[in-house]
Amino acid sequence: MKISNLCFRSFQVAVLLFIVCLAVGCSAHPSIERDQIVSGSPVSTAPAVDEAPQPSESTDNPQNEINNSDIDQVDPTESEPIDSIDGQDEEELNVKNIAITFDDGPDLKFTPQILDILQEKDVKATFFVVGMQVNKYPEVLERIESEGHMIGNHSYYHPSFTKLDSDELAEEINNTDDKIFEVTGHKPTIVRPPYGAVNDEVREQLQEWNKEVVLWNIDPRDWDGTPVDDMFENIMDHARDGGNILLHSFGSKHVENTVKLLPLIIDELRAEGYSFVTVDKL
Ligand code: ZN
Repeated sequence: MKISNLCFRSFQVAVLLFIVCLAVGCSAHPSIERDQIVSGSPVSTAPAVDEAPQPSESTDNPQNEINNSDIDQVDPTESEPIDSIDGQDEEELNVKNIAITFDDGPDLKFTPQILDILQEKDVKATFFVVGMQVNKYPEVLERIESEGHMIGNHSYYHPSFTKLDSDELAEEINNTDDKIFEVTGHKPTIVRPPYGAVNDEVREQLQEWNKEVVLWNIDPRDWDGTPVDDMFENIMDHARDGGNILLHSFGSKHVENTVKLLPLIIDELRAEGYSFVTVDKL
């Protein structure tokens, strides 16, 4: 009995040892099983394939790093300086140009007062002059030119262009150009039709002569005796980048209100960030 017991115990020990060996044996090669599980295939090259991309990924890394560093470089400008980018955009958007234009001069009374204000405030404006007035006061046109303002053609006798035939229109334009040329040595390229009266025919004709029609988009009606406060409000309400303000330097006694208005709008528009430009810069 003792011998059979011994044999049985030996068998038990052998079985236990076998189980232990099996267990140890399995845990000694976990990678194979993991690889097989990861690859989902028992093929032994699978792990190598899985591993292979790693070095190549690492060779991609420089690119990734470049990309990352690019991103890193971009990110700060996108996250932190996003405000400053926006700020720049806002600054760009905040560049607001506006033009002040004066029709019907020159004269001896109001045009010089307007020129004094523009000079004092360091503002460049555009004068659409009438040939008949240039003929009378060439020295005032000379001052307009020498102080850096832009000069445009506003006809010779101030007729409505839409009521003229082609020859009459040519006469209005050419006679005025000639008077301006006598004083300044050059002919204007811009024309403002009196009363803003223009149609396709007139526009095409002027285009043929290389003249650009310039109208306006802000009209405080200074020629009509509008009170200074109302004109001020009108201009500030309608001011925008690209604004083209119609005023007059001659033609009615009400231009005295224009002279009072001018420094007020220059100061207020400037305070709102506007730059004063001639109409060609709009
Ligand atoms: Zn006019």
